[in-house]
Amino acid sequence: MTNDFAADVLICGAGASGLTLAIDLARRGVSFRLIEKQAEPFHGSRGKGIQPRTQEIFEDLGILDRTVAAGGLYPPIRIYREDGSHVEKDMVERPDSTPAEPYHLALMVPQFITERIMRERLAELGHAVEFGCGLIGFEHGDDGVTARLRRPDGEDIFHARYLVGADGGRSFVRDALGMSFPGKTLGVRAIVADVLLAGLDRDAWHQFNDGDMERMVAICPLAGTDLFQIQAPIPLEGEIDLSTEGLGRMIGERTGRTDIQLHSVAWASAYAMNARLAERYRTGRVFLVGDAAHIHPPTGGQGLNTSVQDAYNLGWKLAAVLGGARDRLLDTYEEERRPIAEAVLGLSTRLLDAQKQGEMSRGREVHQLDIGYPGSALSMELSERCGGLRAGDRAPDAPFRGAAGQSSRLFQLFKGPHWTLLVDQADREMIPPRPGLQVHYIGPQGDVIDTAGHIRDAYGLAPGESVLIRPDGYVGATFDASRTSTLETYLACMGMPHTGEEPK
Ligand SMILES: Cc1cc2nc3c(=O)[nH]c(=O)nc-3n(C[C@H](O)[C@H](O)[C@H](O)COP(=O)(O)OP(=O)(O)OC[C@H]3O[C@@H](n4cnc5c(N)ncnc54)[C@H](O)[C@@H]3O)c2cc1C
Repeated sequence: MTNDFAADVLICGAGASGLTLAIDLARRGVSFRLIEKQAEPFHGSRGKGIQPRTQEIFEDLGILDRTVAAGGLYPPIRIYREDGSHVEKDMVERPDSTPAEPYHLALMVPQFITERIMRERLAELGHAVEFGCGLIGFEHGDDGVTARLRRPDGEDIFHARYLVGADGGRSFVRDALGMSFPGKTLGVRAIVADVLLAGLDRDAWHQFNDGDMERMVAICPLAGTDLFQIQAPIPLEGEIDLSTEGLGRMIGERTGRTDIQLHSVAWASAYAMNARLAERYRTGRVFLVGDAAHIHPPTGGQGLNTSVQDAYNLGWKLAAVLGGARDRLLDTYEEERRPIAEAVLGLSTRLLDAQKQGEMSRGREVHQLDIGYPGSALSMELSERCGGLRAGDRAPDAPFRGAAGQSSRLFQLFKGPHWTLLVDQADREMIPPRPGLQVHYIGPQGDVIDTAGHIRDAYGLAPGESVLIRPDGYVGATFDASRTSTLETYLACMGMPHTGEEPK
């Protein structure tokens, strides 16, 4: 093993999770290489739902507005009855947004568009995916990883400090580690296809034979495109004709309609549904993120979202450890994210069972806004608080006024790779400045004026208390003014010690 590292991180796979990690590392100035074995970008719609929590992450990564502009909202579901009549219902609850939760509806964006936007963001940050470059072997030790890569023009050896397997459900990295992927096959096989067709309007998600696993078909207009996405269960065995003629025939047979005409198929796939979770997310210097670590049915629209959030959890920890934080910080990636995937496996399997009965409806649980890490080793409650926000909770948004009179939001303060300390009406000298931490003081003499009380409502801080927000938007710890030495210890563990030097 060499100590001559060409990059800090090698990311294997440029799907949604690999791209998220690359954007996060790029904005933190961490050196990495992002390789993708396919010669060109994936062009299927697959994960088309961007949940509210992922929208918050996209805001932080600088891609939310363009993602919204490129997609749209989910239309109502139109359920056709045997007699040809139909009823309409909303697939998801439509709660109003609040000051604490600015994004409240799932967006619909075909996955190939989301990934294109991510690649564009990566280009703005000065990086690009290396297409046509596959990982074909690696060795890993205490110091780093030696990877064997294959490109059309030959093979090459690459040394990195860390390897991240973002290489999908059939993960090469997971297999090469000899890591098991326990779970079950769910006895459901389905097709998903992106098609051009005539005969259906684009203001509804058309569903025929709801709950009948032999005849069901759902046809959804894909926002931001002229395409429709077809989803339908199929027999467990046997060849499926995914050509224009074959899919056209299936639509005719299942809908009983001759006016729906299929013109072409842009992408189609037949797949068996599984619910599986990798036994570990970390082996030494090698990590798994996204579908490489967990797969489950698409019901609930959770896969891409969970994958993005894995990468978002790992990115800042890798950067912190590369910058001097203790290696133990990296263990909290699996500690925090594996239970989340376990819950998603349960949720998506329950929704699949409900779909088989024709009774699926998605509630707040699919929005992922209630995900938190209260039991994490990183979550510290260091003031005697009764009620209010707890360490490990998602840090809510809140509109406020800046001292200069401008309107602002907490998410604007959090945006970027830093930690944020919000201090309620306390001594300005409470904590000296240092790289990687931004400190804001709430109160009449502070830089944050909580005119409408939204910060008070969301955070419930008492005078003298402070809350430390992690770079990924969760509460790391709460403190009161008497605990500054504990706060110093916490920050030092995260790679932000106070050096005692005045900033130059
Ligand atoms: C039919 C279907 C419908 C879905 N619907 C939804 C939905 O509605 N909502 C939702 O949130 N999710 C949905 N998903 C799930 C979503 O698509 C995945 O969770 C998401 O793509 C996972 O992203 P990823 O980056 O982890 O993996 P992937 O998107 O699979 O990307 C992995 C990448 O790694 C590359 N790779 C593999 N091996 C190597 C190697 N050795 N070297 C280099 N590169 C390699 C692959 O080519 C691939 O590009 C759906 C999935 C399917 C199959």
